[in-house]
Amino acid sequence: MATGDGWLIRLRLPRGEITSSELSALADLAEATGVEALEVTGRANLQMRVPDPDRLITLGDTLRSMGLAPADARGERARAVLVPPLAGHDRFGPDDAADVVAAVVTGVGALLAAEPHLRLPARWCVVLDLPATIPVPLRPATVVARPHRSATETPAPGSEAEGWTVEPGPNWPTASEPGGVRPPAVTTTRTGVASAVIDLARLAAAAVEAAVEPVDTARSGSEATSPLGDLSRIDRSRPATGAAVVASPAVGVIAHPDPNRVNLLVRSFLGRLDPDQIRALATVPAIAIRFTHRRGVALIGIESDAITTVTRSLEAAGLSTDPEDPRHRVSACRGAPGCDASEIDTVAVAHRVALLLGPTEMAHVSGCAKVCGEPDGVTRVVGAEGARRWVVT
Ligand code: SF4
Repeated sequence: MATGDGWLIRLRLPRGEITSSELSALADLAEATGVEALEVTGRANLQMRVPDPDRLITLGDTLRSMGLAPADARGERARAVLVPPLAGHDRFGPDDAADVVAAVVTGVGALLAAEPHLRLPARWCVVLDLPATIPVPLRPATVVARPHRSATETPAPGSEAEGWTVEPGPNWPTASEPGGVRPPAVTTTRTGVASAVIDLARLAAAAVEAAVEPVDTARSGSEATSPLGDLSRIDRSRPATGAAVVASPAVGVIAHPDPNRVNLLVRSFLGRLDPDQIRALATVPAIAIRFTHRRGVALIGIESDAITTVTRSLEAAGLSTDPEDPRHRVSACRGAPGCDASEIDTVAVAHRVALLLGPTEMAHVSGCAKVCGEPDGVTRVVGAEGARRWVVT
């Protein structure tokens, strides 16, 4: 897609997962095409800003040949399954998560392949909401699947606690909206999750056919249509929710089900990874590498004996493994010079804001009142509009 400062390519990776060799190839590709950094998005996708449009076709062909980009937009929809980054590799998470995730990804892909005329909503998404692991925000969800049991529960075979619930997400149209029908939640077994998700996918497609796409309430109204929005839309009485954000394990060493291994969650500043940082990540001896919806990277199943060496090498590359690092609690929109609407260099401001944050605060820096990309849990929005600087608390 075109942006104010070039072209944006977004890679939607199933489960946010990527291999070491794919990472290395991406680093080389970024350097060869003048891409300064890969950006991890709030949906665990990757995006890159390509300054030279003449390289776009070659770049797209290369990414497709690597299997990192599907042939068309329909293939993109099949990849829209958001899972907690440690799913299947969390000592305190459900042990059947990996099977369920694989079944849903495969099932949705097979559905779209078998029914080429099926049109899923543009912001279609399946969220697997697993206890104990890093929670995925439900706001963009179209379908939510969650197990009944708590994180530490071991359910008896065939018991109610072994079941899962699959239900439409909070942005599904309700019966009070024109043509909207909110289907009821479905209780099923672990093997039935994929087919329950597929049933809801058909209903979502039917809503599209009826020109009643599920409404994304987070983006409706002035934010979706106005280039600048209005300062009055910002909630100045927003309660401080930073404590909950800080308590969530978005960075650091996390237990793995294998006692001889650990998981390591890593962040780069504002989720931007330069080619050298990507190469540093590619050298980590992990069972799996996944991007996270916190704009970080999960390095899964590193041998415990290697964790100190791994941590040092990543820190040397400018990546952070420190849960207390205040830079994890700052986000920013594109800002100047990339966005014409911006009055400030949001990255530079974000560096300064990180030094000023209180221990439970989380800030988002915005170049104008539109406040693009504000994540959940933000306690302060910092930005500029016109010649006026403003701070919203
Ligand atoms: S919020 Fe930032 S990225 Fe969005 S329009 Fe304003 S300056 Fe541009």
